Amino acid sequence: MTNILEFQDIEKSYNNHEGDKLTVIKNTSFILKKGQLVALIGPSGAGKSTLLHLAGILDTATKGRIFIDNIDTKNMKDQQRSILRGKSVGFVYQFHHLLSEFTALENAAMPLFIQNKNKKEALQKAESLLEKVGLKNRLTHKPSQLSGGEKQRVAIARALVNDPDLLLADEPTGNLDPKTANHVFSLFLDIAHERGLTALIATHNLDLANRLENRLIFDNQSVVWG
Ligand code: ADP
Repeated sequence: MTNILEFQDIEKSYNNHEGDKLTVIKNTSFILKKGQLVALIGPSGAGKSTLLHLAGILDTATKGRIFIDNIDTKNMKDQQRSILRGKSVGFVYQFHHLLSEFTALENAAMPLFIQNKNKKEALQKAESLLEKVGLKNRLTHKPSQLSGGEKQRVAIARALVNDPDLLLADEPTGNLDPKTANHVFSLFLDIAHERGLTALIATHNLDLANRLENRLIFDNQSVVWG
């Protein structure tokens, strides 16, 4: 099976205001293969968002190497990173981060607009994904006219519009009531399965985490399979 994401002996440290080094992640190595759906588990402050930012090449590691689609990202220039991210990675955050002045359809198509893809094709792609997440009748709604669960479904469609190999999600249902969270999580897993996606989903909800086949658990600033 193809490797989609590989961490090789990663460390991530920050310098705090006093000039002291704060190590959040260390000695961390793992591989996600094509089609693996993995929960990233740890209490608040463990380093889940930090690890996802590294995986999405939004931030750089202090030590070690990160490979996406077997490409070493270590010495990439900013522009190369954003091209690889735009091509290969989709993000879903806890808060939807939809743009309020745009419709559901335009929001879902936004990653393709940003990459200057053909507008008509981008809108067609976004529409078919919104249909897939059950929002066929909400295409022209603005975020303020959508429920929390609907906004998060638009965010899922937006994350998939560039056909990513790797889907990264940071507490994707953390802001929803339990019933809606369960529904949106199921939808998310169904689509990921159907498309053979590789996904890393940070959560502190163990019920949701237990619905995934694999778990990476924070343990002493590193992660272990569990
Ligand atoms: P989680 O997502 O598991 O709640 P985070 O990755 O957000 O955890 O944070 C892990 C630790 O790293 C926390 O102690 C946090 O304060 C620290 N941290 C995160 N980002 C920064 C930063 N930019 N500078 C300094 N410390 C940071």
